[in-house]
Amino acid sequence: MLPFALRKFFFYAYKKGIVKMFGCIFCQIAEGQKPAKLLYQDDLCIVFQDINPKAPVHFLVVPREHIASLNEGGSNNAPLYGHLLAVGARVAKEQGIDRTGFRTVINTNAEAGQTVFHLHLHILGGRILRWPPG
Ligand code: 5GP
Ligand code: ZN
Repeated sequence: MLPFALRKFFFYAYKKGIVKMFGCIFCQIAEGQKPAKLLYQDDLCIVFQDINPKAPVHFLVVPREHIASLNEGGSNNAPLYGHLLAVGARVAKEQGIDRTGFRTVINTNAEAGQTVFHLHLHILGGRILRWPPG
């Protein structure tokens, strides 16, 4: 069992985004240290195909900045969130799913199914998507 002070440090580091120093997958992809099938990138975000797609088209829109989840991002991130949505819609169009339809999902924390604690938008399309999701 880690001493209380050390646990507190790790929790603080996690909240502040220093976790990427300990191996955040999406930070590694954004920094070009880990391969991914890139669809788009700019100064603020990177878009790549999901490694385990749940639909014929399934890509992730990921901010370059390490924000663990919507719980950690504040209202100062609102312009960034808008940008992520606009980029997602643009790539959805490029992928040919804008007319048939696509779903945009952000999972936050364990019960919602978040497994990678670096904020990301899922965009899924290319098949009929049931509602509500499981
Ligand atoms: P979450 O469960 O956090 O909402 O979504 C994480 C997503 O990241 C999952 O759909 C998972 O398949 C995807 N993923 C996890 N590791 C990797 C990886 O190394 N590369 C890519 N391209 N996708 C990943
Ligand atoms: Zn990260």
